[in-house]
Amino acid sequence: DSLFQDITLAPDIPIYATTAAYNKDPCPNKLHLGIGVYRTEEGKCHTLNVVKQVEQTLANDLSADKEYLPITGMPEFNKLSAKLMFGSGRYKNTTEVVFLLLAAYIIVRKSPAIKESRVVTVQCVSGCLSLRVGAEFLAKHYHQHVVYLPEPTYGNHPNLISAAGLTLKTYRYYDPKTLVLDFQGLLEDLGSALTGAIVLFHACGHNPTGVDPTCQQWEQIRQLVRQRGLLPFFDCAYQGLVSGNLDDDAQSIRMFGCDGGECFVAQSYSKNMGLYGERIGSLSIVCKTADVARRVESQLKLIIRPLYSNPPIHGAAIVTAILKDRDLYQKWTNELKAMRDRLVQVRRQLYDSLCNKGTPGDWSHIIKQVGMYSFTGLNKDQVDFLTREYHIYMSSDGRINIGGLSSKAVPYFADAIHDAVI
Ligand code: PMP
Repeated sequence: DSLFQDITLAPDIPIYATTAAYNKDPCPNKLHLGIGVYRTEEGKCHTLNVVKQVEQTLANDLSADKEYLPITGMPEFNKLSAKLMFGSGRYKNTTEVVFLLLAAYIIVRKSPAIKESRVVTVQCVSGCLSLRVGAEFLAKHYHQHVVYLPEPTYGNHPNLISAAGLTLKTYRYYDPKTLVLDFQGLLEDLGSALTGAIVLFHACGHNPTGVDPTCQQWEQIRQLVRQRGLLPFFDCAYQGLVSGNLDDDAQSIRMFGCDGGECFVAQSYSKNMGLYGERIGSLSIVCKTADVARRVESQLKLIIRPLYSNPPIHGAAIVTAILKDRDLYQKWTNELKAMRDRLVQVRRQLYDSLCNKGTPGDWSHIIKQVGMYSFTGLNKDQVDFLTREYHIYMSSDGRINIGGLSSKAVPYFADAIHDAVI
């Protein structure tokens, strides 16, 4: 008998089960709109040209070695990543002039938190482990163990946060009837949240809904969070893919990161640099003073050491090379903008196709939503129908990865939706 004789078979993790089912399906028209990967027209994971270029340079650098990084990762990577999120003083354009007049001072100036050495940034193993390390830190060093998550949220958030021993609660975020932000519900729930509670926010490009607060709404949220003494924890996995501009997409973080209060940010380069399998990201903690920041950093090392000891080199080397070089940075932002523009274009194409076909219902949410995802409003039965009849694989909550939908597949997808809803 095995020592593990009584072990039970764990259920499949839905998003991976969807991918496995897609891979097994022999149908030539099949579509994979599940897992959030930005794909080429041919359906392959898109590697950025700037990344390929940097990798060639790295491969030719014979002086590089494979020595362990420090526990907190590559120092230059950490410095540049903090600047990318909290601001470098290069902030220029915005669509919301009224808001800018109110908040210009906060956003235009160089991040005061960085200048005052109040930000600790540590390289982590992707967005997931950045969240986990942050959660572990809070479980060990923060008095309040309750975390409020938006309802709905990224499927791995509850796992990552509860694995650290924190308690989950939710706040209202999305109204499934109107398909927009439930701002009133959000304010009510955060207004009555437990004192000192941790609140998780998606910095931009909310997964799975594609619905973000406006700048003015963020400002109201910020005031409420600060008044009530809640601790904001941002998850920043789509910077640049929402507006096409890295600074604009960091607005929410900068508002909280520059108001003198404390906040956490977990960052991922999986999507915006297409570095999925390299597992590269960071955790930043903005503290009240440089002295607290130094002590926080020392404690983060004790959290990371037993988890994975120190992070891998390759992804950090790619990101650092791009962020520190003016030309490469420019190439990256150009490619990022093109990716974002294609997301907008595919949304528009899908919306137009459904309108042209006269598919029952109002589909304007598809073009109003932002980022990689569209929350279509299709229910589980309709999603099952799409998979069964049309070989279309997607999350059962109706979320589709717009980044996985090629222009040439849009008519087929629109036909399928039409058939599912009539
Ligand atoms: N946060 C959000 C909101 C996400 O959508 C994702 C990836 N889908 C992550 C974090 C984690 O990304 P990764 O671990 O690949 O960096």
